[in-house]
Amino acid sequence: MAMERELDLRRPVTVWRSQDLLEGQPASSLTMILRTVGCRWNRCTMCGYAGEGAPASAQDLIAQFECAMERSSLDVSVVKIYTSGSFLDSAEMPVEARDAILARLQSQGIKKLVIETRPEYVTPQTIEICLTSLPTEFAIGLETASDLIRENAIHKGFSFQDFADAAEAVHRQGGRVKAYLLLKPPLLSEGQAMSDAIASVRRARGHADILSLNLCNVQRNTVVERMWERGEFRPPWLWSALEVLKSVPGPIVCDPVGAGTRRGPHNCGECDDAVAEAIRTHALSQDVAPFQSLDCPCKSIWRELMEVEEQSFGNPLF
Ligand code: SF4
Ligand SMILES: [Zn+2]
Repeated sequence: MAMERELDLRRPVTVWRSQDLLEGQPASSLTMILRTVGCRWNRCTMCGYAGEGAPASAQDLIAQFECAMERSSLDVSVVKIYTSGSFLDSAEMPVEARDAILARLQSQGIKKLVIETRPEYVTPQTIEICLTSLPTEFAIGLETASDLIRENAIHKGFSFQDFADAAEAVHRQGGRVKAYLLLKPPLLSEGQAMSDAIASVRRARGHADILSLNLCNVQRNTVVERMWERGEFRPPWLWSALEVLKSVPGPIVCDPVGAGTRRGPHNCGECDDAVAEAIRTHALSQDVAPFQSLDCPCKSIWRELMEVEEQSFGNPLF
């Protein structure tokens, strides 16, 4: 049954209701993941979305969107549409479907749309099409401010400058920019990953209205999964995420997807739920004070591990 549903191109991959920030205040949001043909780039080392693609037509995508909108209600003011790729790539989201979706959101009075895209699809025309329909946040997976790490450890295929140019174009036309940063790309030690995330937040901050810290998960059929299976990759500790969130100026949000699982960010198993919950609460409050009271015996193990790695990791690349 699950399989049949997964292959139904007229239903979204998933849809859920949650809370999001709208002008600094918590607001009711609807998030949908639509099944498209998938990301055209399809080369990032941690991304398993390619395996989820299917030949969805414009009509299929409109049907998926309408199906997801059935979960909406009057109090929903933020809609997030994720395609596991780029909403602005017309090979993935046909223009006909894109325009129908934007018109529908506009007529429903949605106050903010969030879409994801690679920077190469951000053009004055695509920005304009979104913004004339409704206020839009363009989320871009920058992952790290370091071109060296983005290119060698992630294979992202675009530079910091590409991101900065896209962000500037969006701002020039009055839109908002969200930058995703990845905590712990492969090939980095825990300490290097933390330092990289902190440095990246500081550098990306000037180009983005909001930052989202994504904690690396082990997705299926990825380079990261192969490394993980060989014991060459461990997802980030939740303590590291906390440390980054504490060390940088906001606004920054983090949804610790898969927290506490072997493939997701985790600590010792005992404290994962409490730390993950604190991270989720912080995403709405932006208050780091509750982090101070979190503790667990595994925190000292995490610290020691970073010291040991520091002495022995010696990565010539970074
Ligand atoms: S991370 Fe983004 S750009 Fe990279 S392959 Fe996945 S969907 Fe494409
Ligand atoms: Zn613990």
